Amino acid sequence: MRIGVDIDDVIAECAAPYLRAFAKEFGVDLGDGTLGWPLLDSFTQIPKQKKDEFRMNLYDGTFFSELECYPGCTDALPRLVAAGHEVHFITARSERRRRITAEWLERKGLLRHAASLQLKPIGDFVPRSYDSSGSGEYKAAVARRLELDRFCEDDPIIARRLVDERVPVFLFDRPWNGDLAHPLVHRVRDWDEVVRELVPEHPGAQRA
Ligand SMILES: [Mg+2]
Repeated sequence: MRIGVDIDDVIAECAAPYLRAFAKEFGVDLGDGTLGWPLLDSFTQIPKQKKDEFRMNLYDGTFFSELECYPGCTDALPRLVAAGHEVHFITARSERRRRITAEWLERKGLLRHAASLQLKPIGDFVPRSYDSSGSGEYKAAVARRLELDRFCEDDPIIARRLVDERVPVFLFDRPWNGDLAHPLVHRVRDWDEVVRELVPEHPGAQRA
């Protein structure tokens, strides 16, 4: 199978360090709950323009080079490849982030397992805010071009767009995607679950 794999919040832990940096910048309290993207919307005292400026400045710095991998993905990717699957990293990060993204994947030992790394082309219109529906269009186009059989994703709007394209999605369980249910959406807790689904000889797999 050809498998598309999102990077942020699927391979790289992104939301929690983002929110911690955000809290430090604006002096807000993150509370004791899980650090998920919806928490950003709760800080209504900070103007949207300030939030967007923060995001662009953070992304222009070292943020992407300092992220941690989710546990399990460094084991899962080589297993998927060994089982004959083809892995493509497909991120809505801008093409101008290719170098920082490729270097990070290389440093984490992940790049060598991938057949390609796809980033969003620098177009005429670059949204200043995070744009799920534009990213969904982009990933749907890549899924068509690469004839993907599966996609690993966390964003519910992007996942919804992919299943509309008839691409089944492994949706990584995150605090911001609990509402999405669809016959082509297979919710997973972690990378081990993806391996169990796609690698039949996995030691944990049920045998007849
Ligand atoms: Mg993501």
